[in-house]
Amino acid sequence: MNSRTLVFLDFDGVICDSQQECLYSAWTAYFRLYRKEDPGVIQLSFRNAFYAGRPFIRNSEDYLVLCEAINDARPLRSQADFDALLKSSNSGKLRQFRDCFYEARTALLSEDRDYWLGLNPLYPHMKKILQHTRLSQQLYILSTKRPGFIREVLLQNGLPIDNEKILNNGQRTKYDIIRETMKNRKSDKALFIDDQLDHLLKADDPRVTCYLPLWGYIQKEWTANSRILPLSIPESVRLLEAAEIKRL
Ligand SMILES: [Mg+2]
Repeated sequence: MNSRTLVFLDFDGVICDSQQECLYSAWTAYFRLYRKEDPGVIQLSFRNAFYAGRPFIRNSEDYLVLCEAINDARPLRSQADFDALLKSSNSGKLRQFRDCFYEARTALLSEDRDYWLGLNPLYPHMKKILQHTRLSQQLYILSTKRPGFIREVLLQNGLPIDNEKILNNGQRTKYDIIRETMKNRKSDKALFIDDQLDHLLKADDPRVTCYLPLWGYIQKEWTANSRILPLSIPESVRLLEAAEIKRL
């Protein structure tokens, strides 16, 4: 791999198997903080529907749409179903929920750090890859998740990371950030691994090779998109442990 090749990895569903933590934070935020109810425990049916809908999520406020759909027993069969609901959602309520979501996440982290970290395991093959590469100069984490939470999980796994290696796209597209970083680094090639098809489809640029991780939170039909390369665990090890990255 050429040293001017940059690697952009999403965090949730690529590096970190965080869906248990997202379920806890979203459920607490929705019922206890947003609706001010206490339904006791997370029902198995809620959990299953939450995991089934997890691929449609792009950022924290999207969990309001998912939780409401589950609560109203409204089926979500596709990203288009989800996006139609998202579009009709009140933006003030989405913002209010986002604050509740981060309040729930922050409270759990400060009250029971070990439990919170236990809900955020790294995928074993990605942990190995990141340990080998020592988060080399070519590698960036590109996520909608707030960088402090990412740093916390990586540190726990013995992977300290410089602040500038964690990129948060905020309201911009991930492709915007990739393009900008490539320009700043004078790079002419990038690999982009993300489990949200939408982020990959927006990176429509011959210099950027897009991969859909088969271990992430994906919909099966997304693997049929001709522009996106499905990436298995063994293929990811071969791709990311390419010699140049390993030695940097
Ligand atoms: Mg993801």
